[in-house]
Amino acid sequence: MKILVVNCGSSSIKYQVRDMTDESLLAVGLLDRVGIPGTTLKHEPVGKDEVLIKKDLPNHTEGMKLVLEALVNPEYGCIESMDDIGAVGHRVVHGGEHFAESTVIDERVKEVIRECFDIAPLHNPPNLMGIEACQELMPNVPHVAVFDTAFHQTMPPESYMYALPYEVYDKYRVRRYGFHGTSHFYVSHRAADMLGKPYEECKIITLHLGNGASMAAIKDGKVVDTSMGFTPLEGLVMGTRSGDIDPAIVFFLMEKMGMNAQEANNFFNKKSGMLGLSGVSNDLRDVLEAAASGNERAQIALKVYYNKVRGYIGNYIAKLNGCDCLVFTAGVGENGIDIRENICKDLDYLGIKIDSEKNNVRGKEVDVATEDSKVRIFVIPTNEELVIACDTYDLTKSS
Ligand code: ADP
Repeated sequence: MKILVVNCGSSSIKYQVRDMTDESLLAVGLLDRVGIPGTTLKHEPVGKDEVLIKKDLPNHTEGMKLVLEALVNPEYGCIESMDDIGAVGHRVVHGGEHFAESTVIDERVKEVIRECFDIAPLHNPPNLMGIEACQELMPNVPHVAVFDTAFHQTMPPESYMYALPYEVYDKYRVRRYGFHGTSHFYVSHRAADMLGKPYEECKIITLHLGNGASMAAIKDGKVVDTSMGFTPLEGLVMGTRSGDIDPAIVFFLMEKMGMNAQEANNFFNKKSGMLGLSGVSNDLRDVLEAAASGNERAQIALKVYYNKVRGYIGNYIAKLNGCDCLVFTAGVGENGIDIRENICKDLDYLGIKIDSEKNNVRGKEVDVATEDSKVRIFVIPTNEELVIACDTYDLTKSS
């Protein structure tokens, strides 16, 4: 069976086609600027040349149509006809408290995705738009939703409750949800394989360090804690997000800078983090370069970044009462050699010792800890799309 994986953003559609007989990739692509002048499809069929198609498209349904045409194109397509696609897997950011696992999409599932618009206003509406566009174009195949929040639903109340009046949880579902769940799930499973231990017996700390960044502590196959919270704003220092701050700063700055709630939301999500602190860029490569050439703000920004991650490592080792391995993943985690080194150095009291030579590696599955490190340090490239494809296949293969 072949599976189409779809990840719809507000103005983009990312997709993959996989043959589930051997999980091999047949094509990947990105349709950018949907609904904005300059719509561009970059379609990359495996084993053939990449194709760029520029064609302004008004909405996601027209966008999906163009994607499907590319998939069956006799020259650069990857399947003979749409009948080859057995099911479609959709990335959905927020499943609220309703979904601890992936699920076949029916009207009730769509209703829940809609109910979560309020708590995921940037993500769930385009996710649902993508689902509805695909359902319109492929009405006869099952569609599956794979939620970023699902894996974190295994967290206990002491990790997901905030110390706020209980009514705001009851009434507004204000609690920690956590994000990047599909990535934490994937790399923690790979880590258990690398440890050679059953997943249900491992203590794992995963560090998904990308432009957005989060960590998770996983014990016996369940999430014990994760750093993103009610929204992806909480936790680590990110490209443009502040991560943890004193909440009083929000009210203080709203008053001082005359910001309303929406402007404040934008300020802490889009103007803060490494971008705001360094004044250089949200991209860690630029910040590293600036720091190396003597930019003091960039140097401080990096120290704040490392300090925050190191604090979470200590926090999570305490909550796990030990740790078998750290796992570095996503753009920064997979490629940031200096960054891994700086995060892991001087943590030998916690049993963490990084081997600088082994650590000189990018984007490969590898153990970079010293022989005598009590805690293994793995670099594991994440693969959220593979999880979506596998879940979709498992849920639909007998239908
Ligand atoms: P997201 O999916 O959250 O947008 P990614 O996981 O693709 O982000 O990570 C993108 C980030 O990875 C970039 O912003 C950049 O900071 C970082 N990155 C990529 N390569 C390197 C590198 N060699 N060194 C440090 N950081 C890197």
